[in-house]
Amino acid sequence: MKKLKSILAENFLFDSHAHLSDGEELPDIINSAKKAGVKYICDMSIDWKDGETVLARANKYPIILPSIGIHPQKCISGTDIYSILNVFGELVKKNKDNLLMIGEIGLDYYMPTGKNLVNQSASLNKSGQKDIFEGALGLSVEFSLPVSVHIREAFTDAFSILKSIKNDDEIVILHSFTGSYEQLKKAVDNSWYIGVNGIITYKSAQNLRENLQKYLGKMSGLEPLDFYNKHIVFETDAPLLRPSNAVTKGNEPQNVVKVYEYVCGLLGI
Ligand SMILES: [Zn+2]
Repeated sequence: MKKLKSILAENFLFDSHAHLSDGEELPDIINSAKKAGVKYICDMSIDWKDGETVLARANKYPIILPSIGIHPQKCISGTDIYSILNVFGELVKKNKDNLLMIGEIGLDYYMPTGKNLVNQSASLNKSGQKDIFEGALGLSVEFSLPVSVHIREAFTDAFSILKSIKNDDEIVILHSFTGSYEQLKKAVDNSWYIGVNGIITYKSAQNLRENLQKYLGKMSGLEPLDFYNKHIVFETDAPLLRPSNAVTKGNEPQNVVKVYEYVCGLLGI
């Protein structure tokens, strides 16, 4: 299996976080990505069930690099954390040599409404999410695998868990990053990577654009490798988050080129 470290040492674009699915359009999606110059697609599973599907897809298409994880939103109250972690741990162990990363994992404290019932399940959910996140990070340390991390409204908890568990040898990507400048700085100062996707092109993302401009400042060059050296990686999170400059109907890995072009434009070149 290709290692993320060696991918980040080369000067080409790859989609560092996408969710593919098996369907008749998959060969076209893959061909369009190749034509657009996308070298690899990191395909993320969101639970232990579709981990097998991701692994099978990667077996069939060499451009796909598999990652398996448990999305925090999959941890609803009443979830049996320990049996999930057991099943997931077995899957990681069995496939450790074929995995690019562990992900998507993380913490998500966002709740769509303020109703009491929802808040109650949210508070139960938090400790379950933390247990799963810590367990998955433990596996990433045990098997020396990088991680792709989802954080929403949970930076303080997520940062302290990452700091306490993750060792410095393996890569941490904060995927779909939308945090503050201070959080961005803290992440890169820890040698973690920031995942930038189509959100950067949205009207509502003015803060994110300013934070990224402030952080990147004057770049010596705008090749993909120049960004990787600054700990910025590009992603689509397809099929969601279609960049506003995309020409495709939905979102797919070829649009990682659009995200990259948009960021280059943002820096004035
Ligand atoms: Zn995702």
